Amino acid sequence: MSVRVRMAPSPTGYLHVGTGRAALYNWLYARHTGGTFIVRIDDTDLERSTKEFEDEILASFRWLGLDWDEGVEVGGPHGTYRQSDRIDYYASIAHRLVDEGHAYFDNRPTEELEELRRKAQKEGKHPGHYIRRPSTEASEGVIRLSVPQDGPVEFSDVVRGDMSFAAADVDDFIILRSNGTPTYHLASTVDDIDYEITHVARGEDLLPSTPKHIVLTKALGAEEPTYAHLPLLFGTDGKKLSKRHGATAVTDFREAGYLPDAMFNYLANLGWSLDSETTIFTRDKAVAAFDLTDVSKNPAAFDVAKLDWMNGEYVRAMDPERFADLVRPQVESSLGRALTRGEFDTFSAIAPLVQERTRLLPEAGDQVVFLFEEFEAYDDTSWNKVMTKDGVAETLAAANEALGDLGDWDIPAIESALRALPELLGIGAGKAFQPIRIAVTGSSVSPPLFESIAALGRERTLQRLERATNQLA
Ligand code: GLU
Repeated sequence: MSVRVRMAPSPTGYLHVGTGRAALYNWLYARHTGGTFIVRIDDTDLERSTKEFEDEILASFRWLGLDWDEGVEVGGPHGTYRQSDRIDYYASIAHRLVDEGHAYFDNRPTEELEELRRKAQKEGKHPGHYIRRPSTEASEGVIRLSVPQDGPVEFSDVVRGDMSFAAADVDDFIILRSNGTPTYHLASTVDDIDYEITHVARGEDLLPSTPKHIVLTKALGAEEPTYAHLPLLFGTDGKKLSKRHGATAVTDFREAGYLPDAMFNYLANLGWSLDSETTIFTRDKAVAAFDLTDVSKNPAAFDVAKLDWMNGEYVRAMDPERFADLVRPQVESSLGRALTRGEFDTFSAIAPLVQERTRLLPEAGDQVVFLFEEFEAYDDTSWNKVMTKDGVAETLAAANEALGDLGDWDIPAIESALRALPELLGIGAGKAFQPIRIAVTGSSVSPPLFESIAALGRERTLQRLERATNQLA
């Protein structure tokens, strides 16, 4: 039987990185097995679901490189892949379950039900023992499923192994609300059956729902899918990943300038590995090797520092021309204007050096803006650390002299002129070069000094040395 897996996002918020990873594992499994990846929208919560969130979630899937074969926007043999289109249909199924004796109407207040539950518990009976009502009674209120009271609900989870839930823990749960809308349990289970889902791979937070889905599937006369519950993501402090840890939405990472390939690689690697030593791998390699059975059941830590490192690896591995093209719009947006042809050539020449020092693309833009416009102010930290020391004025004066007299304005000439300074001034190289760097680029974080000065040109370099000297006074 061909594999059919699904992601069923609720459009009530942005795509959380944990859900992004679940999507990625479903996609990998579909691609690995030559199966079908389906995206349906779980929007039965009509009040909280929005089109904006739906668009964001789908855009995030696409940004991660996850394409789907059936579902919203792409269509497929099942017509609609949106739960809000099927509300009446779910209601008819709930009524059918009542007719068949698998479910019943219930309009009793919660307190009364709680009392009956307590009574059952005291007598060591299943909660349904007192709660359950015959299907034939009053067609009002919610509809509850009559959950079988004999024996535990058992299944074998691909990630977590054999699972067993005591029957008493699976209450007669609501499948249809009194306003006629389905609960998540009903809509999700009906969809998984109708769309012939073979494997349900989803976050471990949904594990308590699974026995309910299993008994409901049986009541509907269908065969249950294989389940794989994926471990949740934690912050580096061991707590469940939440907004407290910083960005948690895939969109945030996209906007912060992370590369989709790096994000894909990082998420894939959280709880699954290609082999025991490879951390950096392509989508194709992951597709070739991926199996749900290899997903670890241990919680994985989402560590932004590692993601940054990995992003840097991808940045450095990039073709330099592509790098320059990707960074160009960022430089232009900082400048508020387009780069001229000559400026782009200047930038392209220095770009490979910037590429080596970049983890996130926006950092690259920030590093080169000094080439094209006068910076407003010096970076505070850099200035306070370096420019307030003794001897800075002498260093800048010496640099001014060495560069002012220079014949050819090229990297070797600039380098040899400046390399003579430390000895001349009787100070170390760092002490000599740091003030020059800050004077010329505005910050102690910049592309390499000699190349930066060569790219900036003589006139502007000398002007900036003067500007910094004036600021010292
Ligand atoms: N709409 C549910 C969620 O976003 C889907 C759960 C499932 O995969 O069954 O949590």
